[in-house]
Amino acid sequence: MEKWPIGIFTSVGAGLGAGLNTVTSLGVHTVQLHAPHGPDRAPERVAQFKQQFADAGVQVTVVFAGFEGESYADIPTVQATVGLVPEATRAARLAETKAICDFAALLGCETVGMHIGFVPEDASNPLYAGVVKAAQEVCDYCQQRGQRFNLETGQEKADVLLRFFQDVGRENLGINFDPANLILYGTDEPIPALRTVGKHVRSVHCKDAKRQEGVGGGWAGVEVALGQGDVNIPLFLRTLKEVGYFGPLTIEREISGEQQKKDIAEAIALLQRLRDEILGA
Ligand code: MG
Repeated sequence: MEKWPIGIFTSVGAGLGAGLNTVTSLGVHTVQLHAPHGPDRAPERVAQFKQQFADAGVQVTVVFAGFEGESYADIPTVQATVGLVPEATRAARLAETKAICDFAALLGCETVGMHIGFVPEDASNPLYAGVVKAAQEVCDYCQQRGQRFNLETGQEKADVLLRFFQDVGRENLGINFDPANLILYGTDEPIPALRTVGKHVRSVHCKDAKRQEGVGGGWAGVEVALGQGDVNIPLFLRTLKEVGYFGPLTIEREISGEQQKKDIAEAIALLQRLRDEILGA
């Protein structure tokens, strides 16, 4: 694979990603795919998706797990509803995660990604040990299928994530680094955080956010088009090079419709220009 191929966060059915039509019309050849709901994970549907992606010349690099009942309405709701942290839904979601790993395997995708939820900063919090165990279980299931498991950044500080990695202790655990989330959740500075966890980064979201007070819901900023926010995208790419990451640059823009497509097109142009500048044309 060429270094830093451009990618787009994509959906078929469920999730906020762009559609496959947008991907092909923009001439992009890698995507991360939000896992569709159960009925769309049936083998015959998977065969159809696989054919559609193959016909379009598009490689699915990460399948992202998401669950019914998750809400990003405000930060307390995220803490209570997202990922494998909430205890009430953990067992059912672990089972669904395994089904999503199977879906990814059928699709020919070697990585499953997830917002695992807010990993407690305090390792003596009773939730902590349970989340470590859940992550180990997913890693081991992935390992049997030759897959990796990537955690999305943003809901905890880089050093908390690093300790969590050590405690999970699985070689196929990786990070999907999303610099904008660190601003949105107000958890950390994106570039120093990337340096801290850099050796574990296996995929990224190219997403931007602006720090803003008074957003409400506990949010510390708002998501904006790539290059318009406080991440410092040129420095983000230079730091990816520094930590040795040359995998896909997957654009994530969490709005829909024509504006999403326009912003993604501009993000592609920005990333191509920076890639030529930083890696040499
Ligand atoms: Mg993201």
